[in-house]
Amino acid sequence: MAVSLTAGTNADWRKLKQEIVEAAPSLGIDKIGFASAEPFIELKDILLQHREKGYESGFEEPDIEKRVRPELSLEAPQSILAIAIAYPSKLADPPRSEPGAYRGIISRTSWGRDYHDVLRDRLAKLEAFIAERVPDARMQSMVDTGALVDRAVAERAGIGWSAKNCAIITPEWGSWVFLGEIITNIPFPADNSIMDQCGDCTICIDACPTGALVGPGQLNASRCISFVTQTKGYVDDEFKVKIGNRLYGCDTCQIVCPKNKGKNWTHQPEFQPDPEKVKPLLIPLLTMTNKEFKEQYGSISASWRGKKPIQRNAIIALGNFKDRSAVPVLSELLRTDTRPEIRATTAWALGRIGGTDSLAALEAAAAKELEAEVLREIQKAVELIKDHAWIPEEKQS
Ligand code: SF4
Repeated sequence: MAVSLTAGTNADWRKLKQEIVEAAPSLGIDKIGFASAEPFIELKDILLQHREKGYESGFEEPDIEKRVRPELSLEAPQSILAIAIAYPSKLADPPRSEPGAYRGIISRTSWGRDYHDVLRDRLAKLEAFIAERVPDARMQSMVDTGALVDRAVAERAGIGWSAKNCAIITPEWGSWVFLGEIITNIPFPADNSIMDQCGDCTICIDACPTGALVGPGQLNASRCISFVTQTKGYVDDEFKVKIGNRLYGCDTCQIVCPKNKGKNWTHQPEFQPDPEKVKPLLIPLLTMTNKEFKEQYGSISASWRGKKPIQRNAIIALGNFKDRSAVPVLSELLRTDTRPEIRATTAWALGRIGGTDSLAALEAAAAKELEAEVLREIQKAVELIKDHAWIPEEKQS
């Protein structure tokens, strides 16, 4: 039976909340919680400090007031519904990476269909469920790119605790969850938040490859490998080595977390990965056209920055693998690619791989290169190879 917003009583909202909790699994939602829509005052100082220290990624909502005040997204909000959907953490039958056929890896957050679309679909279903029962309710859904901080909402709504690795950890699903929320003018009773269960553990902080976790729950995004893999420009040499074979994202702080042990969720059909897509061969990525990239990767969230960051990271991975079989294709890229970031990264990779063919390609490119940054990379690579020239080629890698 429908209830009007003005006539509804606390008992009606309690009952509707119970109905929503019971319906959540049939709407494809793994966990749901309810929070007040009070401003996130405690978060404001943290966000301001974060900005002052230069820890932002630049991908977040720039207006801090919007991030902490739900009323700037929906007039007169009364509560927020937070949802979580679990995703897989393991490939059932991962293809092997081997010499001459090395592979990169794409973050678990990008396995299967773009989670923004999946979450939007679930939130739309939940909105429809509520609108049927409260026709005059107002609702505003958000996923990741919305104004509010998903993790702060989820923490307040009791979805999980805000962990030292900056993820929300749910007792049921670990941190392998996507988050979304609906701000509404229905005054749902709030849930209690969950106690922090990290305790004395610092495993994620110690395991972070670049020291990007600068303290418990504090991330310097500019050092985070996940962020670096999504940038489009030149990558510092320090990060190139630490990127390893990551093409997009970095799951290290979640993989090492003991609260995630044994947790791998395969029940959401949209998030089932295609192993060849999420652990692809590196060399074919380098010559992929825009059309091929769109066809193969357009539906996953890792494609949001386009093809260039993934190709650049694939070149870095080949350099880190010191894959000699990649020298012909890398030499061709260095000679013909129109993107300076790609040529510079290619020069770096050839320098790491070494050998006479790499050296010849670099010297030929040096004679024609006009971009100062690329030329610097070429010269560094040439010096590196010459420094190692006394070592027999077969022992250089
Ligand atoms: Fe918390 Fe330890 Fe997991 Fe880090 S690794 S999030 S400190 S439990």
